[in-house]
Amino acid sequence: MSPPPSAHRPHVLIVGCGFGGLEAARRLQRADVDVTVVEKTNHHLFQPLLYQVATAGLAAPSIAAPTRLLFRGERNITTLMGEVTDILPAERAVLLRDGLRISYDHLIVAAGATHSYFGNDAWAAHAPGLKTLADAFAIRRHVLMSYEAAEKEPDPARRRALLTFAVIGGGPTGVEMAGTLAEIARHTLEGEFRHIDPASAEVLLIEGGPRVLQAMPEGLSQKAKEQLERLGVKVRLDAKVTSIDATGLDIATAAGSERIASHCVVWAAGVAASPLGKLLAAATGAETDRAGRVRVEPDLSLAGHPEISVVGDLAAAMSHAPGQEPKPVPGVSPGAKQMGRTAAGNVLHRIAGTPTEVFRYRDYGNLATIGRNSAVVDLGTPFGPLRFSGKLAWLFWLFAHVYFLIGFRNRLVVLMDWASAYWSFRRYARVVADVDGPGEGES
Ligand SMILES: Cc1cc2nc3c(=O)[nH]c(=O)nc-3n(C[C@H](O)[C@H](O)[C@H](O)COP(=O)(O)OP(=O)(O)OC[C@H]3O[C@@H](n4cnc5c(N)ncnc54)[C@H](O)[C@@H]3O)c2cc1C
Repeated sequence: MSPPPSAHRPHVLIVGCGFGGLEAARRLQRADVDVTVVEKTNHHLFQPLLYQVATAGLAAPSIAAPTRLLFRGERNITTLMGEVTDILPAERAVLLRDGLRISYDHLIVAAGATHSYFGNDAWAAHAPGLKTLADAFAIRRHVLMSYEAAEKEPDPARRRALLTFAVIGGGPTGVEMAGTLAEIARHTLEGEFRHIDPASAEVLLIEGGPRVLQAMPEGLSQKAKEQLERLGVKVRLDAKVTSIDATGLDIATAAGSERIASHCVVWAAGVAASPLGKLLAAATGAETDRAGRVRVEPDLSLAGHPEISVVGDLAAAMSHAPGQEPKPVPGVSPGAKQMGRTAAGNVLHRIAGTPTEVFRYRDYGNLATIGRNSAVVDLGTPFGPLRFSGKLAWLFWLFAHVYFLIGFRNRLVVLMDWASAYWSFRRYARVVADVDGPGEGES
């Protein structure tokens, strides 16, 4: 397939419309280029609030915006729903799963990351990870159905296992999931069951390292642990998962190995780059790191292929600040957005014949929420780090996330849902279509 509207303009193909792809496309809107955005879903997803869908706090449309709608007014941008399955740098073309071939002059690959089970892929069947809306629906169903099954279960040991929720991985996603699952048990479901007490549910957060939120300063990690424990989460540090099956998991600690019976295990422990990274590396000779991320040049292009850039979670990129040693860019949304903008700007530089820009990551800090009124914030300011936790941090987290959500309607809906949940403790996005499996109407 040739570039759409005007074949005489350079054609920029963007793979993926997450944070990196969306920002790249926005940088190119109204530029003198034709842009095609290929995205395997039909929406841009705000992943930082995905755990809210997984825990029934928000409905999917509140955190996802249709890709087509985002570019509706941009005449130079064409949106195609499809999955890129191969990249052919020698022919300057990509192939889609449905057989379509799209040629390009410039390619920006922003296909993100997926879960990694560190070589234990069989665990995926019992411990879903959280990356897409489909994952969030699966986890939400799993959590809600565990309570439903417990209400009908006469055997005390099986009932206990149904009411044991284990979250693996003490990064931001694991902390958010565990805190919210504890809130659901203590508050949301209060008074709704007759044979079980939802508040007796046990929520475990299992972390292989010595502290949660390891990217945060130690003091904030400790604060986060205390806030989790106040919410009723049992935090197990230095506990390595050695197996997961349909009835629970085994962990290894300094005290020996331990079996935890649980019917609801959530995986928040590892990420691996999109498989497109390996394909790209094989086709261009680019190197990948251990997570499968593609090593890029300082201007985010591939060595020997200036027409190809890789951005976001798929890129092993370095930040080049003047007068400082290059530093790795973290896998967070501001990193992806900034890379998307720089890579798209560099496409315009190449077309204009001007020098490309070296990528410099601007780190504004780190936030993580733990639950109602609980969060930790670590901000970089010109006067040094600003760190705080508790209710003020939670309000900061809340407004920052609403601010960065795409679209006025989404911001309004999220604010209203959160205000209602705050006062009532209720979570209304709890519709599962039937007992047998996900069906139409779960959103
Ligand atoms: C649960 C969760 C919570 C997070 N919380 C935070 C947070 O609080 N703060 C923060 O800064 N960061 C957070 N992150 C990380 C942040 O979301 C990522 O760093 C960011 O999304 C990376 O952007 P990206 O564009 O590289 O990838 P993504 O945003 O993942 O986008 C990749 C896109 O490419 C599409 N795609 C993939 N493969 C193909 C293909 N073959 N063909 C076509 N399309 C394809 C995908 O459907 C997706 O839309 C979180 C991530 C997760 C999963």
